[in-house]
Amino acid sequence: MSDPQERLATYRAKRDFSVTAEPAGTGGAPSGSSRFVVQRHRARRLHYDLRLEIAGVLVSWAVPRGPTLDPKARQLAVHVEDHPVEYFDFEGVIPKGEYGGGDVIVWDWGTWSHAKPGDPLKAIEKGDLHFDLQGQKLAGRFVLVRRDRDSSGKEQWLLLHKNDDAAVPGWDPEDHPRSVKSGLTNDQVAAAPEALWRSDLPADEASVALGSTARPAWEGPTDEELDALEAMGKGGLWQLQGRELKLTNLDKVLFPAGDDGRPVTKREVVRYYAEIAPWMLPYLHDRPLNLNRFPDGVHRPGFWHKEVPSHAPDWLRQWHNAEADPGETRCYAVVDSVPALAWMANYGGLELHAWTSRIPDVHQPTWALIDIDPGTTTSFDEILVLARLYRTALEHLHVVGMPKVTGKRGVQIWIPIAEGYSFSDTRSWVEKVSRAVGRTVPEMVSWEWHKDRREGLARLDYTQNAINKTLVAPFSPRPAPGAPVSVPIRWDELDDPDLRPDRWTLRTVLGRLATAGDPLAPLIGRHQQLPKL
Ligand code: MN
Repeated sequence: MSDPQERLATYRAKRDFSVTAEPAGTGGAPSGSSRFVVQRHRARRLHYDLRLEIAGVLVSWAVPRGPTLDPKARQLAVHVEDHPVEYFDFEGVIPKGEYGGGDVIVWDWGTWSHAKPGDPLKAIEKGDLHFDLQGQKLAGRFVLVRRDRDSSGKEQWLLLHKNDDAAVPGWDPEDHPRSVKSGLTNDQVAAAPEALWRSDLPADEASVALGSTARPAWEGPTDEELDALEAMGKGGLWQLQGRELKLTNLDKVLFPAGDDGRPVTKREVVRYYAEIAPWMLPYLHDRPLNLNRFPDGVHRPGFWHKEVPSHAPDWLRQWHNAEADPGETRCYAVVDSVPALAWMANYGGLELHAWTSRIPDVHQPTWALIDIDPGTTTSFDEILVLARLYRTALEHLHVVGMPKVTGKRGVQIWIPIAEGYSFSDTRSWVEKVSRAVGRTVPEMVSWEWHKDRREGLARLDYTQNAINKTLVAPFSPRPAPGAPVSVPIRWDELDDPDLRPDRWTLRTVLGRLATAGDPLAPLIGRHQQLPKL
C-alpha cells in the first residue's frame, strides 16, 4: 500500500476537517528529503509520535514512553496510520472530542536514513526496520521490530537504540520537554494555541496559518553597508536598504564608558540599530513609538519626544492620532524598517518605547505587562524572588509569558494576549495576579503610589497597562554608562548566578542572540486567553 492517497485514507476517515485545524493533506508531494519528526502528543494518554517521511507520507508509530538514547530500553511502539506530510511541523491543539484531541509539540526533528540496502517500505512490511536518526535530540542507530497485535488489531512493535556512539545510558525523553520548533512546552502550547484560533477556516487554509511565515521578517544590513558607515567621516549620506540617511556627528560620545572602558559613539549606536533591527522590529512595527531622546548623550538629561519632526524623511511611516487633545502629540513615528530604526539613532532616540497596542485599533493591547519596579532599597535578589513568584503563578494559571531584564535594575514579564481585551481588562488581570504575588512577600512590596511613601520597597506596577503608558522595548538601550540594553530571557535564566538586569550592552547582546536567540520571539502574536481570576 505505497500509494500516498490510499495510505492517507485511514487518516482522513478519522478526522472531521470542518472542526479540526490539523492539515488535511493534499496528497502526493513526495520529496527527495528523508525527514523525521517526533511529536509529543498529550491526548487521552501522553505519547510520542515517531514519523518517518517515506513515499510522500509520514509513516508513524505512537511510542507511549517516548524514544530514548538509552541502549537498554525496549519501548512499545504502536504502528498507527500514515499522516500527510503537511502534518510534519504541526504544533498546536487538536480540539477535544476530535481524534487525537489534545496538544502537540514538535519534540524533535531532523533527517533519517535506512540503515540497510533496499526499500524501507518492504522492511516495514517485513516488520524489521533499522534506521539512523540525525535530530536535535535523537541520534544514532534505531531499530523497530514488529512483535504482536493488540486487542484492537493494531500492530505492536518494539523501538530500541543500538549501543553505538550516540547511545546514552539512562537517557529519559521527559527530561527534554521543549519543542525544537518553538522552545515551548506542551503546557505552554496548550495555553496559547496558535493553531486552533483559525479552526473556523478550511483545513488547507488553516495549515498556512500554522507556520510562522505569517509574521513579517527583516534582513539586517549588508557588510558593504556597514563598511560604508565605518568609513564615513563625521557625517554624510548613508545608503541603507534603498534609503538615504543623513548622518551627523558620528563621532560624538552618546554613552560614557561602561566596564569595558570604551565610550559609545553615535556611529556605534547607528550601527547597533541597523544590526539589531531584525530582532527588534517584530516588537516595533505597526506601533506608535515614544522616544526618550538624548541628542547630546545620556550624561545630559533626556526628554520624551513623540511628535515626528518636520525634517523627518518622507519615507518614515507616521500615524496620526485622531483622538489627540489640544497640546497632545498628533503624529507618531511607526518604525517598520531597518532604515527607520537607524534614523532613530541619528535623531538621538536612545531609548525606545513602543505602544502596547497596534494601529489601527490602539485601544486593544497585544501584551499584558508586569513591571517589577525596584525601590531604593530593593536588591536584585529580591527582584528575582518576585519574578519567580510570578513564574509560579503563571505556571499555575497555564499562562505563557517570558521575563525580560530592563537594562537598569528591574525585571518585566511580557504576556501575549488574544484580540478583544481592553487596557482595563489587562490592567485588572495583572493587578489581581500581582496582589496575589505581593501577599506572599508583604515585606518586599509597597502599594503606595508616591515614590517617597514606598519606603524603598519594590512596586508591582500593573498601571503600565494603559493606552498612553509604555515599557522599554526589547533590545532598546538604556541611558546609562556602557549602553546596557533590555533583553528577554528564559525563565531558567533567573537561576543563573551571573544574571544581572544590566548584564548585556549594545556591544554584547548580538553575540547572545547568535547563540541563545530571543525566547520571547515565539510568543509574539500568540492569541492567548487570560483565565478568569
Ligand atoms: Mn498522536
